Amino acid sequence: MRFSILGSGSSGNAAFLQTGECRVLIDAGFSARRLEAMLALIGESLGAIDAIFLTHEHGDHATGLTGLKRHPHVKLFANRDTAESLQRGLGHRPDWQIFETGSRFRFRDLEVEAFSVPHDACDPVGFVFTNGADDLFSPRRRLGWLTDLGHVPPHVRERVREVDYLVIEANHDTALLDADRKRPWPVKQRICGRHGHLSNQATSEYLTSETRPGWREVFLAHVSRDCNSLDAIGREFASFVSGGRCTLSPVPAGEGIAPRDLI
Ligand SMILES: [Zn+2]
Ligand SMILES: [Zn+2]
Repeated sequence: MRFSILGSGSSGNAAFLQTGECRVLIDAGFSARRLEAMLALIGESLGAIDAIFLTHEHGDHATGLTGLKRHPHVKLFANRDTAESLQRGLGHRPDWQIFETGSRFRFRDLEVEAFSVPHDACDPVGFVFTNGADDLFSPRRRLGWLTDLGHVPPHVRERVREVDYLVIEANHDTALLDADRKRPWPVKQRICGRHGHLSNQATSEYLTSETRPGWREVFLAHVSRDCNSLDAIGREFASFVSGGRCTLSPVPAGEGIAPRDLI
């Protein structure tokens, strides 16, 4: 699998995943024009994208759907509540591919698991993508995708414990969110609630609590520009990094990760 985070943060989220048989996006939280520009930077284009897997209906994950009217070949994978919620705001009817939350299904040579995560949306999900025949030439690799969740319940831990690569949010630093003057109190409560977003502290605690994970690399994503910083992340995850269990790669707010092969 070839993988790239096109952009991640409160203002938009999208990632690119390529296997031998398909090119897909995980979320489309930028305008179609912006997505096209981001894909061009890595030598790809929207015209070559086969499908998009949507975690939930929030704008920072799905705003690109409006402009995808010009790309009717793209299949949109979502659960029913998410699709219905998004369809209400669209002037066209995309090629919806409805999956059941909690199910496992295939798209070409990609195996997909979608499972519920606690977040204040209709029916938000996390994903595990698996590809490869598990032989010398095509090793089986698994990528877990966990953004937008207020806490990590046991069933989510189960799903991502054995993945090779994990993308998980480290949205805010609790002290920086507390000190923030832009956000009114109810918004802060929503962010740090059980159905909001994971803080550096919560994510660090969760990662450290897994004693035998299969992770080779963990990407910290959906980083808030105002209420987090690479310094705060460095401090909070120092003990996890020094434990040497896997590579930790923070994705700076609004930025991405250059394409890499998940080997
Ligand atoms: Zn959200
Ligand atoms: Zn989000």
